Formats: sequence, structure tokens, C-alpha cells
Amino acid sequence: MATTATKPDPLAPRTRVLGVPVHACPDALAAALSLQERGGGQIVTLNAEMTMAAKANPALGAAIEAAQLVIPDGSGVVWALGRQGLRIRRSPGIELAYRLLEVAAERGWRVALVGASPAVMDAVSARLAERLPRLQVVFKAHGYQPPEAWPELERQLLVARPDLALVALGVPRQETWIQNLNGRSGGLWMGVGGSFDVWAGIKKRAPRWMGALQIEWLFRLVQEPARWRRMLALPAFAWAVLRQG
Ligand code: UDP
Repeated sequence: MATTATKPDPLAPRTRVLGVPVHACPDALAAALSLQERGGGQIVTLNAEMTMAAKANPALGAAIEAAQLVIPDGSGVVWALGRQGLRIRRSPGIELAYRLLEVAAERGWRVALVGASPAVMDAVSARLAERLPRLQVVFKAHGYQPPEAWPELERQLLVARPDLALVALGVPRQETWIQNLNGRSGGLWMGVGGSFDVWAGIKKRAPRWMGALQIEWLFRLVQEPARWRRMLALPAFAWAVLRQG
């Protein structure tokens, strides 16, 4: 059960960026698998935008605080860790999520997929069935259900006992929703943001060269201009980290 998984992971020392916990993971997959072996828990993929959101939103902050594994997903968080003398590579959440699906297919884990639009959920299910034919999906639900549908869906999800649940409901909802359920179930529970949209071919990931130049945020802004307000958190994050010295 998740309660047995609160021991610090030897593979990933826990530190803080602007007061928000993060594990300095040299190998996010190894850390996730080690967590799974110890009964599972919640995995959060932390970036700069989310760090600032956690400081402003106590429910999100509490969910990240309680998560068993917080991986540095985002060049801003990796940069802030570097200023603490911790040199690690970033671990994109979308890549960890896909690696976990591959492991799930190999090991016969029970998998749950929650979130994204009905069309994206259909497309992702079809793609995964094609690419990972041995994947055992025991539960799936899109993320635009009416509020009254959720309690019954949550009950069915817990009855399905997933070893791995990927949840694409967006930040902060996916983190707080997982935190509510995680205490009542074993397995790995991970918020994956827009990953299903990327796997369905609806959104694109930034090209590698933009990642190398640390300007993935620019790609995201061009693809989703409506995010501009949320993205003001990025300079605020950099300023707060620099001010800390
Ligand atoms: N989403 C959902 N239900 C909602 C709101 C959003 O299922 O009520 C999905 C949305 O379709 C998308 C994901 O949540 O697949 C959020 O993606 P985004 O890139 O915005 O992630 P974030 O940056 O918030 O982590």
C-alpha cells in the first residue's frame, strides 16, 4: 500500500526548489520502479510553472508534499537544482510515462488511463493497443465527465486495482485527484498533463534542438497561445530562484 512507500528513495535524494519538494533523480525510471516494488504511490513531474502554482495553491502544494516521488521535468527545475550543486538531467514526464507503459506490457501490469477528451482517449487506446499489444488496460475514462459521474468512476477504478494509473486531467486537478485516491490503493499513480494529446497526434512535442537551448516554453507558447498568462510564472520562477542566491 502507498503508506509503506514513504521511505526516502535511495536512488533519489529529496531536496527543495523554492520550498517545493523534488527528488534529484539521476534515473527517473529506476526510481519509479523502486517505488512500485515498495507498494507504489504518487509520481509528480515538476516544472517551473507547477512550482509557482504550488506556492499559490495550497491543495496542489499539499499533494506535491505528500507525493512519494517528484521528478524534475523541466529545464527550469533542473537549472535551480544545478544552483544547489545537484547536476542531473531533466526527466520528461511524457517519456517516463511511456517507459512505464512498456514495463507494464512486459510485466503484465494492470493499467488505468484517465483524462483527455473522448476523441483523444479513443485515439490513445487504439495507438497503445497497436504499439504495445500485450498492454492490459483494465480501466479507462475520458476527462470530461459530468461531476456526478466521478464518484462511481473512482469506485470502479479502485475495484480495477491498477498497478499503473496515468491521469491526464491537467495541473492542479490531476495531482489533487490522485492524492485523494492514492491513499486508498497500491500501484503507481502519475499525472501526465498533455501526454495523451501528444500520443494521439493532436499536440506536438518541441523539437530536440529547442530542448537543448532550453526554449521548449517558446514552442509551447506558439502551439497554445492561450497559455501566455500561465507562462508568466516562468520569469517569476527564475527571478525567485536567483533572489535566493
Ligand atoms: N483535461 C481533461 N479534463 C478537463 C480539463 C483538461 O481531461 O476538465 C485534459 C486535457 O484534455 C489535456 C490534459 O487534461 O489532455 C491537460 O493538458 P495540459 O497540456 O493543459 O496539461 P498541464 O500543462 O495542465 O499539465
